[in-house]
Amino acid sequence: MRFDTIIAGGRLIDPVQGRDERADLAIRDGRVAAVAPDLSGAEAETRLDASGCLVVPGLIDFHTHVTHRLDALSIDADAHAAAGGVTTWVDAGGAGAANFAAFRHYVIEPAQVRIVPFLNISEPGLACLEVVHGVIEHLDVDSVWETVEANRDLIRGIKVLSCAMRVGPNGLIPLRTALEAGAATGLPVMCHIGAPPPGLGDMLPLMRGGDIITHCYKGRKGCLVVAGERVRDEAWAARRRGVLFDVGHGAGSFSWHVARVALEQGFAPDIISADLHRTSLGSGAFSLPAVMSKFLHLGLPLVEVIRLVTAAPAQALGLQDSIGTLRLGVEADVTLLRLEVGRFPMPDTEGATEVLVQRLTAVRALRRGVVL
Ligand SMILES: [Zn+2]
Repeated sequence: MRFDTIIAGGRLIDPVQGRDERADLAIRDGRVAAVAPDLSGAEAETRLDASGCLVVPGLIDFHTHVTHRLDALSIDADAHAAAGGVTTWVDAGGAGAANFAAFRHYVIEPAQVRIVPFLNISEPGLACLEVVHGVIEHLDVDSVWETVEANRDLIRGIKVLSCAMRVGPNGLIPLRTALEAGAATGLPVMCHIGAPPPGLGDMLPLMRGGDIITHCYKGRKGCLVVAGERVRDEAWAARRRGVLFDVGHGAGSFSWHVARVALEQGFAPDIISADLHRTSLGSGAFSLPAVMSKFLHLGLPLVEVIRLVTAAPAQALGLQDSIGTLRLGVEADVTLLRLEVGRFPMPDTEGATEVLVQRLTAVRALRRGVVL
């Protein structure tokens, strides 16, 4: 049998299939065509040497900003895909009902990577970030519903920013409107949290199973950890209902202290994401593998860290049949990572730095079998 590409000699990890073994992976017509201990006898147009590498499902960054050129915050997903090994970028509400068509036409459709959008509850999306939910007239469930109905093939959720800086005088109204839109469309709501009001203790009881809190290990007041030492009761109750907690590192949303306290109390993240944008790229988040490395440092096992950037976000998107796994027949989105040993100082966003003794870096990424 002849293949287009064989990725040979790596350690293949696919948490969905329970695989963690030395294996070769073959690709034909953009899909995973074979996985076997040794495919050295098979013919292939291209053979990639993966010795010393982890071969994992293409990474999914569940919180990014890739409405490139539609707002000042965003980055070009294709240009940053290879460096971070990310083949699927979840855009966290860069576009709203007023500009989604442009995002779709000019950014999502031409991109080599996969972009999965969450629609902003505000009509202009993040085009005017400072006042994003300050204008109540921009929060319109009907226009969200119409945009979702016209783009059911792409949109997988609704995004809302629920902190003092982004809601202005509107308190819980943006979140309540987003939840109403989520119910009307049958989509999950991703809620950005930050300095109150509104307070996390008031928001968490409103969230439904499948909804997502992002920036879950944000430091400072009003965060997940109460009085600097205890995961708040409302968070445990929300988790029991199926609310998901996503890292969303970003430029201001990861505290070593909060994350460590939470993990020590058993409150690990449901999804690891970098919240990459123009600012966070250079200040603490750097890349998805860098954020993954922080959770290795905090004690999560390697295979679990891989699961939280592959199978777990795929499930949250309802795309578990097509991404986040290396099952035979799925589109060949594949990432090669290297686990380096050394001393790597890594800052959080609160001024604290810890020295990691191992670090994940992306070596290569393939989307539909094509090297990015
Ligand atoms: Zn963000």
